[in-house]
Amino acid sequence: MATSLNGGTSGIVARAQALFDDLSFTAARQWKAAEPNRKVVGYMPIYVPREIIHAAGFLPLGIVGGGDQLEVIHGDAYYQSYICRIPRSTIELGVSGRIDFVDGMLFPSICDVIRNLSGMWKLMFPNVYVRYFDVPQNYRDEIGGNYYINELAELRRDLGELRGKPITDEELSRSIALYNENRRLVHELYSFRAERPWLVPAAEVYLVIRAGLVLPVEQHTEMLRDYIAAARAEERPKRDNCRVVVTGVFCEQPPLNLIKSLELSGCYVVDDDLLLVTRWLTADVPTEGDPLRNLALAFLHHSESTSAKYEPDQKEKGQYLVRAVERTRAEGVIFASPSFCDPALLDRPMLQHVLKDAGIPYIAFKYAENSGQMQPIREQAGTFADSIKLWSGA
Ligand code: SF4
Repeated sequence: MATSLNGGTSGIVARAQALFDDLSFTAARQWKAAEPNRKVVGYMPIYVPREIIHAAGFLPLGIVGGGDQLEVIHGDAYYQSYICRIPRSTIELGVSGRIDFVDGMLFPSICDVIRNLSGMWKLMFPNVYVRYFDVPQNYRDEIGGNYYINELAELRRDLGELRGKPITDEELSRSIALYNENRRLVHELYSFRAERPWLVPAAEVYLVIRAGLVLPVEQHTEMLRDYIAAARAEERPKRDNCRVVVTGVFCEQPPLNLIKSLELSGCYVVDDDLLLVTRWLTADVPTEGDPLRNLALAFLHHSESTSAKYEPDQKEKGQYLVRAVERTRAEGVIFASPSFCDPALLDRPMLQHVLKDAGIPYIAFKYAENSGQMQPIREQAGTFADSIKLWSGA
């Protein structure tokens, strides 16, 4: 289904909202049913090379938990209470049959919770291809690079076996080109929002980007292009909001209402680390030469700096946040992390220290994907926005 400029941004956002609300993944089911031999490979946050899934002719399907609309009935029985919610709601999606059409699942190495989930998935769904997908912690070509090329080669081999035919270099390079185009538009949307945030509300940007987790990349690229064009053509009132960077999200996503609440409380979100898979790579991946080597070197040398990626240089720790604030002319940083997310919450004090040294104001709170009470967050973010205006002497 193509997106359209009819109705401006509202028609596109309505379609993205419908995809967001659909926890049975009807669009992906329909894509699979449209032709025999089509397969769907799910992936969890934060980063997997979707190009390889696409090159096999499969649909990469981003699974980011159940949000605030899914009642977790079975999932709680599999996990202790003191961890984040996304593994529980993902189990719920699995045992309730909502993702029973998915032929494979990739679990990227981000924390022990996800590692355990990948093992559980193997036991619970023995007919599904499951891979725990590791990324390098060393960024030297001859060490981390070679290691990662081997990881990518194994994934390529496995997915080739799943379809019954090896994935060729030409298929890979073609998919890389399609994802390059998609990432360029995602980056364009982010730049546009940083420039004129009142024209592209954070919740809309989130929905449009999130649609890319369930749509074929070709369709999502079209949606992005249409949305950017429609948003540029619209007039919207400019509010006296302050500009903030939202960070610390990792994989469990905040409820959509939380993102809306930030803007309602007086903050324009000018950068964030939501759904990083859609813009993890920061530059085009070359389409000439060995495609796996190209993907590996892009990860090593042209990927987002975030809490979710190991930073070997202590002097560089957190500097990406300072640069993001400068690049987007933000006036403050909001740390928003999932409750019980160890990697995010352990990193936060170090990042706060860097911001303090740079004189950048910040606040911090935690959420769960099904948090319902927005009033405390609205008050906290509203007070933060007011205090920034006072400090800046506006
Ligand atoms: S939200 Fe944090 S703790 Fe939970 S699975 Fe993701 S990285 Fe792990």
